[in-house]
Amino acid sequence: MPTDNKRLQIWKKFKRNFLNSGSMECFDTHIHSEGKGITELKAMAEAGIKHVISCAYYPVVPSYSSTLIDMFRKLTSFEVERGKKAGLELIPAVGVHPRCICRGWEKALKWVEENAEVIGEIGLECASDVEVEVLSAHLGIAKKLDLPCIVHTPKNNKLKVTEKVLKIVDASGIGEELVVIDHATPKTVEEILKKGYYAGLTVQPGKISVEEVISIVEKHGFEKFVLNSDTGFNDFEALTVVETANALKEKFDEKDVKKVAIENGKKIFKK
Ligand SMILES: [Zn+2]
Repeated sequence: MPTDNKRLQIWKKFKRNFLNSGSMECFDTHIHSEGKGITELKAMAEAGIKHVISCAYYPVVPSYSSTLIDMFRKLTSFEVERGKKAGLELIPAVGVHPRCICRGWEKALKWVEENAEVIGEIGLECASDVEVEVLSAHLGIAKKLDLPCIVHTPKNNKLKVTEKVLKIVDASGIGEELVVIDHATPKTVEEILKKGYYAGLTVQPGKISVEEVISIVEKHGFEKFVLNSDTGFNDFEALTVVETANALKEKFDEKDVKKVAIENGKKIFKK
């Protein structure tokens, strides 16, 4: 394990490489800024990331709905300011993550209804009845208020749970242009696009690789994808969107790359 000092050195070198590469402006459509230090947020901004969506997530199952509400309040005030200080436009997304469902979640949902600009991260993890109920309730609010949504799909049982997510989103009647089905893989992309939703491509170890993104856009074009890192309480993955955009730029027309790197995100999240 590298020491903290060594880690810092690696991070600085990593940052320098990006600064020298003439990166294009990017939109990371799914992060958890609360897990990032100000140095890392600044590095993201310096590497070319202009906008981020910071999604609500609590790393342990909360004991009370008020924990969720305070987390939403922090995200929509303190984190937005921290983003600004780092040079990022930080757009908060609030909602009850499927791994954060606690007793009294309805109260947290009321706060979402009264305050959300973007709803997320919502979705299914193991597709239990309560997860389905919570997801449907969020989608009902999003449809009523015309709000964009970031919808999580899990690592396990990916295809089956994604199909279930798509069924629930369909049933809600929400506009296709408001929905990002996130953490898509080469196996789930087709189903998502068939329904007309956007697919979120999360580039990080254990999700998908830069090479997989290249083959996905090669096959399906650039119109219906957004890039993200899902960086949060983990290590050095904060710049994968820039890394991916740079790799795409070497292979494809810059005009097309810009769509997945920034423009589609701006369209969905009305920025
Ligand atoms: Zn996430």
